[in-house]
Amino acid sequence: MTYFFETYGCQMNIAESASVERAFIEAGWTKADDVQVADFVIINTCSVRETAESRILGRLGWYASLKAVRKLEERAKNHVFPKAHSYALTNKENPPRLNLAIMGCMAERLIDSLQKDYPVLDYVIGNFQKQYFPDIIAAVEKGEKWIETDEKPHYVFAESSYEKGSHSAFVPIMHGCNNFCSYCIVPYVRGREVSRSPESIFAEIDALSKNGVKEITFLGQNVNSYIWEEEGKEAIDFPSLMQAVSQHIHATKSSIGWIRFMSSHPKDISPDLIQLIKKDPLFCKHIHLPVQHGSNAILDAMRRKYTREAYLEKIAAIKKEIPGVSLSTDIMIGFPGETIEDFEETIALMREVAFENAFMYYYNPREGTKAADMQEQLSIKEKKRRLALVIAEQQAISKRLMEERLGESVRVLAEGFSKDNPEELVGRTERDERVVFPAGPEKIGCFVEVFLTELTGATLRGKIV
Ligand code: SF4
Repeated sequence: MTYFFETYGCQMNIAESASVERAFIEAGWTKADDVQVADFVIINTCSVRETAESRILGRLGWYASLKAVRKLEERAKNHVFPKAHSYALTNKENPPRLNLAIMGCMAERLIDSLQKDYPVLDYVIGNFQKQYFPDIIAAVEKGEKWIETDEKPHYVFAESSYEKGSHSAFVPIMHGCNNFCSYCIVPYVRGREVSRSPESIFAEIDALSKNGVKEITFLGQNVNSYIWEEEGKEAIDFPSLMQAVSQHIHATKSSIGWIRFMSSHPKDISPDLIQLIKKDPLFCKHIHLPVQHGSNAILDAMRRKYTREAYLEKIAAIKKEIPGVSLSTDIMIGFPGETIEDFEETIALMREVAFENAFMYYYNPREGTKAADMQEQLSIKEKKRRLALVIAEQQAISKRLMEERLGESVRVLAEGFSKDNPEELVGRTERDERVVFPAGPEKIGCFVEVFLTELTGATLRGKIV
């Protein structure tokens, strides 16, 4: 039988889809080449923006039509239609039944209304029920319906999110958020913070190494809030976990050569962590540190728990201790009450830090969050106008920083063929820059030294030295 995933949203969703996919593979299922012919489709959803949810609801309408076509196919197998009524059958051979599941944050947020109002869905799987997928798969194989257990919901980390043949892997180590930023839906749909046991993390690292994985990215909504506490033992925080991971990788002669982590909360970037990144070559010299805004008034209204000055102090410490570090961030424009002066403070902060890259978006009210009820909501037109200005600012900064790289030799992890030219490979530097260079397929999955010669758009080009 065959499955198909449609995944939206963040890296955590990508990792969670990959871990559920493993349950299908272990049950002997294969990936469908096309959604039209799959026996089981799983939509992994995102709730962060309203537009993402609307798009997914639109997809449910499309799946309702696909199910209707499948039913006609079933009938077509058993009846001879007069020629006038014949129609193209997409897949006569496969069983026509289509099982449709929705999982992820939107499934968690709208679990009751999705079950009630969307009969096209066979399964609505919240964020605390993914561990039941093996039972669901077994039920589908038998043509039965899985019935939800009444256990108290709790988050279960998957053993592995590894995708076969991949040289990079995500390793979720903490889940949820305790911060309740006033605009964010995440704490409501992902719940409170839970951390994964070090034993389970090491076991996954060993399994990834056996598969020759070269780069791992530790994931969590606030990855550096990681804390593991056991009675009678000293608590393990994020820097001590990273230290232990590094020792483990060295001691086991692991294939892993690069470690990244995201997303970090600025309040939890500690001097210990900065020192580790500075001294240990396993850690990529790249830190993603979401600032969200440059004005103290807005940071306070957002409940970000730091000031502009505190953020800039952390950035100064990082730059001082880790020469050549690259920094990226998230910036939200158009929060309720944002004045032109607030907005300009954000532009000034971007110039001061000189982020290599930024994920920029405008504020989108989410029902149930504090900011959605705030007065002084900006018009979409004004939010778009300000967003265009920050994007142009960031593009100019990124271009300048990337141009400064020309003439340097850099270490690149070759990821695969370039889409435009099969005689070229594409890869990333430890600073997370995209690099294209001529090379054969034998270099895919290898670290190579590339001399940078040219910048095209946001891509560096070069040749292996
Ligand atoms: S830290 Fe703030 S923005 Fe990030 S997930 Fe938690 S509530 Fe959302």
